[in-house]
Order: sequence, then C-alpha cells, then structure tokens
Amino acid sequence: MEELPKTPELIGGSDKTREQVDSYFRDEYAENDLNYAEIPLSPEQQDIVRAVIEAIPEFLKTYGVEADPKAMLDRIHMIDDSKLAEEDVRKLPGSAVHRKRGNRIYLKGSEANTSVRFFYAVCHELLHSISFDSFTINEGRMERAVLERRSGLGVLVEDQNRLDTYFDDINEAVTDRLTELFVQYVDQNPEAGITITKSDGFATAAYYASSTYEK
Ligand SMILES: [Zn+2]
Repeated sequence: MEELPKTPELIGGSDKTREQVDSYFRDEYAENDLNYAEIPLSPEQQDIVRAVIEAIPEFLKTYGVEADPKAMLDRIHMIDDSKLAEEDVRKLPGSAVHRKRGNRIYLKGSEANTSVRFFYAVCHELLHSISFDSFTINEGRMERAVLERRSGLGVLVEDQNRLDTYFDDINEAVTDRLTELFVQYVDQNPEAGITITKSDGFATAAYYASSTYEK
C-alpha cells in the first residue's frame, strides 16, 4: 500500500490554516499529473530503488542523522519526456526532480537512461526527499497560500510575485557530495547489497563532469 506523503508538523496557525496546509499536500498526493508519459521501472531499476532505500538510513546514521526514505518506494516515476505535452515540459526541467507536493520523484527517461545515471538520480532525489523543509502560510490568500520557505539548505523568498531560491547551489552541491559519499559507503559495505564496478565508477565520474541535476 502506498504510504501517505510526509505530513508537515504544524506549529501554531488557525484551523483554517491547518485546512489549507492539509489540502495543499493532499491535492497533489492524489495526482501524478505526468502519468500519461510514465514508463514502468524495469526489474533492475526496481532492485536499485529497493537497495538504495534500504541502505540510506544506515549510511545517514554514520553522520548521526535519522531519516528513512521508505515512504518513497512507490513514488518514483520514470517519465518518457519525448511524450510530454508542451505545457508539462517545464515540470521536469533537469534530469530528475523531487516534488514536495505529493512527495514524488520524477526521472527523465532520456537522461536517467543507464543504470549508473539512474542510480545517481535516485540517490540524489531520495536525499532531497528526506531533507529539511519548511513552509510559510499566507493567511487569507488564495494563491500561493502555502509557500515553500526552506528546502534543505535553500531559502526561498517571494519577490514581486516571483520565487527566488537563495543558497540553491550550496544545497545542490551538498546533496551531490552526500551522493558521492553514499557511493563510497556502499562500496565499502558489501552488506548494503549494492555492487559498483570499476567501469561504473568511471562512468560516474564522467557523468559528474556533465551533471545537470534539477536546479
Ligand atoms: Zn538536486
């Protein structure tokens, strides 16, 4: 059974605010709006997802962090981007994205198209999915009633009706670095059940040089 998305912990706010927050997360939970272009994960990709989800909590424990991405098991969607409608292309701007509303990860089929690229994209987005988030509630506003405020190390600021993210590059760099450290961790801990061959490592380095993860 699919697990519900991470529910935000609400501090303060009126009943109406709580209702707004609840519907903000639930509306999209019901909807995978790119499902018309979805390609099922191959058995090999499913194995990678399961192994990574299982290994991440142990890896993070080595830094004293407790976080578990197991709720993401059925929430990783591979999208055939050649089939995306024009108005949906902007929803998948990089090679992968974690969308907080609905707590889903979307991977771009044309880019996460080798097992190494798939592995990296899944690790990277899973780390985003369990990073710190906070939201600002605008009482009495219909549009943008719920505004993302913090995402990992990123700080979002609304300026003249436009959202800017500060420290986005640092947030991405730390997530990329953690992904690299995770690769080293599974390499040194065979019990994690993930084997990385030398040629994979080479491909990985090459991929990093041209990495275009979602920004
Ligand atoms: Zn990212």
